[in-house]
Amino acid sequence: MDDCIFCKISAGEIPATVLYEDDDVIAIEDLNPQAPVHALVMPKAHYDNIVDGVPATTLASMVHAVGEVAASTGLSERGFRVIANTGSDAGQTVNHLHLHVLGGTSLGEGLIP
Ligand code: 5GP
Ligand code: ZN
Repeated sequence: MDDCIFCKISAGEIPATVLYEDDDVIAIEDLNPQAPVHALVMPKAHYDNIVDGVPATTLASMVHAVGEVAASTGLSERGFRVIANTGSDAGQTVNHLHLHVLGGTSLGEGLIP
């Protein structure tokens, strides 16, 4: 996708702080963090969102990356939240599938941090 910012980040064309990377996925720090730890886990291939025909192997790679990020950023012990904003009602602003990984403080009991 030519005009997709996350495609460009995945390809290394736009800089980002990379927390984890493998053949399928990349995890970066969010530019505008909403918690002490706020990572974005995304496939390197472009999918609009989590219901855009994403192969199960890609979804598995993303969940694996969540675990790697949680471990390396110290979130594993105290817990964290994973969010996939999907479509306009959820406020998805970048239409390249990504999981938000949020933690490093008490996020409360609600779904919205
Ligand atoms: P969404 O609202 O689509 O679920 O989340 C998009 C996220 O991407 C936002 O949290 C926003 O701060 C982050 N973001 C947007 N542009 C960039 C960028 O160029 N670099 C990084 N690291 N994060 C970005
Ligand atoms: Zn993209």
